[in-house]
Amino acid sequence: DKPKSLNFIEHIIEEDLANGLPREDLRFRFPPEPNGYLHIGHASSICLNFGLGQRYKAPVNLRFDDTNPAKEEQEYVDAIKRDVEWLGYSWDTERYASDYFQQLYDWAVLLIKRGMAYVDSQSSDEIAAQKGTPTEPGTNSPHRDRTVEENLDLFTKMKEGAFEEGAHVVRAKIDMASPNMLMRDPIMYRVLKKAHHRTNTDWCIYPMYDWTHGESDYIEQVTHSLCTLEFAMHRELYDWFLDQVYEPSKVRPKQREFARRNLSHTVVSKRKLLQLVEQGVVKGWDDPRMPTISGLRRRGYTPESIRNFADTIGIAKRENLIDVSLLEFHVREHLNKIAPRVMGVLDPVKVVITNYTEGYEEWLDAENNPEDDAAGFRRVPFSKELYIEREDFREEANRKFFRLKLGGEVRLKNAYIIKAESCTKDAEGNIVEIQCTYDPKSKSGSGTEESLRKVKGTLHWVSVKHAFEAEIRLYDRLFTDESPDTHKNKNFLDFVNPDALKTITGYLEPSLKEANIGDRFQFQRLGYFCVDPDSTSDKMVFNRTVGLRDTWAK
Ligand code: ATP
Ligand code: MG
Ligand code: MG
Repeated sequence: DKPKSLNFIEHIIEEDLANGLPREDLRFRFPPEPNGYLHIGHASSICLNFGLGQRYKAPVNLRFDDTNPAKEEQEYVDAIKRDVEWLGYSWDTERYASDYFQQLYDWAVLLIKRGMAYVDSQSSDEIAAQKGTPTEPGTNSPHRDRTVEENLDLFTKMKEGAFEEGAHVVRAKIDMASPNMLMRDPIMYRVLKKAHHRTNTDWCIYPMYDWTHGESDYIEQVTHSLCTLEFAMHRELYDWFLDQVYEPSKVRPKQREFARRNLSHTVVSKRKLLQLVEQGVVKGWDDPRMPTISGLRRRGYTPESIRNFADTIGIAKRENLIDVSLLEFHVREHLNKIAPRVMGVLDPVKVVITNYTEGYEEWLDAENNPEDDAAGFRRVPFSKELYIEREDFREEANRKFFRLKLGGEVRLKNAYIIKAESCTKDAEGNIVEIQCTYDPKSKSGSGTEESLRKVKGTLHWVSVKHAFEAEIRLYDRLFTDESPDTHKNKNFLDFVNPDALKTITGYLEPSLKEANIGDRFQFQRLGYFCVDPDSTSDKMVFNRTVGLRDTWAK
């Protein structure tokens, strides 16, 4: 690999090292909230954080930001771990913000004792109404000057479950006139009478994100806490909360922000992806139409292709839209190197070789992957009746049509040169059979003069008798609009592409019967396909990962 130039986060780290931060102190984390499955946007954050871990040989924690039991589930924790591992990364330790509930509570008590936090007993509407505006200061809560004793008493009772949801909150006592609205006495705790997937009913008060995140980084001694730009305004609060507990002998975490990655023709938000799942727009989080890591995996993407994509787009200081064709380019590029070539016909028309012996068959050598010398050969059966693609034949065509036409010749891949002599049609005029002759001396690889003869077109084909039927799922973009969730008066669901999944029957060469779930292939001239987990011993199911070329007209 050629050396890469440093990105702006790496520059920040280099500067910190130059200013005396010991290299061995470097530590990072990837902090998903387990409220959904990871998506392609998360892949950028994963590759960034774990990539830094690799570059600096520093530990990277997987930290679940699990402070909202209303939305979080063990299923999501499991899926996130599976996806990070599948992407090829291993974390140093698995951590949970919920591991720190007691520590966070103790620190909150400390803040109350120091007069830096208080219990507010107003409704959320009242609190919101006192916030002020960015240009006008807010109003102090009537409870802002409660005594320490009163605050401690109420906070203890909140913790013990004496109050209903919404009755009280704990707020940091900062500055109701701060130009940064987030500094106007932000909420630290709320009552939530919900069981948590890890702490069960131990707690009925839960810490807010801002109070939790920086302190968790501090507990784990993370040096660089990287998050997306929408948290830029939160940095002041992150620092304020750290000021309350920081001891100078310890590492002081630094929050730095980078731009969220958006991919065209899809949505990258767990909340919106959950809507697609719940409303049955897709079959689940791992539906191959989804931009989730699990959906891309099922679709046939490789971890390498996703990492290369994330590497290529790098990180940025400003948000922009990445065209999905770039992601497709990367999977195509990788699959071209590793996917064995096979033949399958998706829209068949029958070819009969009139001068080929009835009932005879031969097994021809076919190269598995011209890009990979070690991939070897397999055998494909040839016989008198074959299928080719319907669109590969025309009765008449001009000189630019390099496929089969009456009176014309083509080579059948790995087999013989054939010539179309005549065709038969049904009552509606559809072609049902093409009668061809073959040149017996033209067998591919036989070394004869005829085998080396150049003809313009080469077609893929299968032997009717040996081919087997499989379900083929063809995918298109999930949304017809490139940024479906950016329209003022429209919901992103209005742009769902009803044709994003098309299911057809394909006729495949027999070697594919041996394929296992997840195996990836290039169906020659058609694209890359992989075996879907819906496959059974009676019926195999293949997903088209991507076509061979970018066929999207810009
Ligand atoms: P979502 O809106 O999909 O729930 P989130 O940011 O709330 O996204 P988290 O689980 O909190 O999701 O994300 C974990 C990490 O991944 C965070 O550091 C977050 O900033 C980062 N991340 C999430 N989405 C993207 C994205 N589209 N591009 C880059 N990083 C992202
Ligand atoms: Mg989040
Ligand atoms: Mg979120």
